[in-house]
Amino acid sequence: MNQASELRHKARVLSQPSEPQKYLASRLQGFGTTIFAQMSALAVETGAINLGQGFPDTDGPPEVLETAVAAIQTGHNQYPPGIGIAELRQAVSHHQQRFYNLSFNPDTQVLITAGATEAITAALLALCENGDEVVTFEPYYDSYAAAISMAGGRRRCVQLRPPDFSFSADELRQAITENTRLILLNSPHNPTGKVFSRQELQLVSELAVKHNLLVITDEVYEHIVFEGEHLPLATFPGMYERTVTISSGGKTFACTGWKIGWACGTQELVQAVQTAKQFLTYVNGAPFQPAIAQGLLLDDSYFKDLAATLRRGRDELCEGLQRAGLKPNIPQGTYFVTTDISHLADDGLEFCLDLPNRCGVVAVPIQVFCDDPNLGQNLVRFAFCKRPDVIAEAVQRLASLKEELWNQ
Ligand code: PMP
Ligand code: GLN
Repeated sequence: MNQASELRHKARVLSQPSEPQKYLASRLQGFGTTIFAQMSALAVETGAINLGQGFPDTDGPPEVLETAVAAIQTGHNQYPPGIGIAELRQAVSHHQQRFYNLSFNPDTQVLITAGATEAITAALLALCENGDEVVTFEPYYDSYAAAISMAGGRRRCVQLRPPDFSFSADELRQAITENTRLILLNSPHNPTGKVFSRQELQLVSELAVKHNLLVITDEVYEHIVFEGEHLPLATFPGMYERTVTISSGGKTFACTGWKIGWACGTQELVQAVQTAKQFLTYVNGAPFQPAIAQGLLLDDSYFKDLAATLRRGRDELCEGLQRAGLKPNIPQGTYFVTTDISHLADDGLEFCLDLPNRCGVVAVPIQVFCDDPNLGQNLVRFAFCKRPDVIAEAVQRLASLKEELWNQ
């Protein structure tokens, strides 16, 4: 096999639903290894710069790190309370009030979880009956599909289309049927970098109220917004009582490995999520909980600087992609940028598998986050939560794509 056909073969294999696995329950068949694990392994194997999986390459605020170290050294190493330590629940509640004017009682309306991932999965397990439909937007964050399936739900996707990743109001209306139980909404949105506008959120909330739906919001990039503003759906009329608001400390404090997340909502909703959560992990991250509590109480300047630093990374990478002859869809939030690669390859997955050889950079293909392969086929995602020197080096390497174009 020559290199091109080997690549095509690899891409075909990867883009197929994975081979049926002998012991795997039907609700998990087809969910192979996540693209993040595959692409990070490719980066290690080839020594390429990893702009695939989104994780920062610098540590978060020193006082937050020191609090975790001190917590380990002062005996915070056993099971914390199932609902999370009081200090962190109070800090989450305070943070929601301070930034969004949302009131959640820290004793009954805040639940600490093993990252946002567990909060989302626990919420779906708690709130879905078998066969319930869950409306979400595609491309979607990869854990959604598996979590909906584990909860016995069925996903109905509304497309976010490039370049601005807007959606059709009619498509959203049509996606809601008599079987719809809930809407799962992620803003700022991974992988597109879209920040849902007030009008879009207004429409989502009106439909949720009209059809009496519950909503789960994934707001893990709430502090990484460059254009517009982050508006929690729970602040819209009629939404407080039907929304489970989820976030985590991973992105905000550059500690994605700590996995401290939370879910806020009415007492009844939080109780339901806790019932599922307690049998998933029960609890996690005892020494990290006081550290994230401290992070949530940092001055406004910390949160502003986070967005300002990432904005510089965004601009640097987007300009570099433009110089490389690509047309990045400038993200309004998150630390990801997508770009069309159709002038360089027929398929984003093939392109991403080849990119380490072509120029020593790893990206992730968007098609794996889509039910409709056409939607993401020509799009790839780069992460810019990296040090300036790493972005500069990646940009320099990507410049060779432009030369390739001239040579074609
Ligand atoms: N939702 C989105 C949209 C994400 O990008 C991530 C990233 N890891 C998560 C959820 C998971 O968050 P956590 O690491 O807190 O589980
Ligand atoms: N959220 C990160 C991303 O989108 C990766 C998380 C993971 O590896 N599961 O890149």
